[in-house]
Amino acid sequence: MKSIKHINLKDEKGNVYCCLRNKVVCLDEQQIQQFCSGCGMLEGFAGGLGVECVWNDARPVLDPHIADNADEEWLSNQIKHMSPGAHAAAGLSSLPPQT
Ligand code: SF4
Repeated sequence: MKSIKHINLKDEKGNVYCCLRNKVVCLDEQQIQQFCSGCGMLEGFAGGLGVECVWNDARPVLDPHIADNADEEWLSNQIKHMSPGAHAAAGLSSLPPQT
């Protein structure tokens, strides 16, 4: 996995996807004080447009990755991404079980 900079832009409701909490949050003073200020992933605040968070991402995304839809970003992060080699290493098969 690569360390990727995520630029999470606030949507029209002021929401962003938070990796630490794995949920969509309102990027308000409470979020910033209670979570972002002590978060090791915090890289900046995108010039006031959102929050920049750096974390290892298994998805095939660009670096930096710009997320401007918090709900879609949350959904994308619920899907497990495994390479074919990882499936084999985990003892999983891509073929359905034979009866
Ligand atoms: S800096 Fe940390 S707490 Fe703040 S939004 Fe990013 S992942 Fe969440």
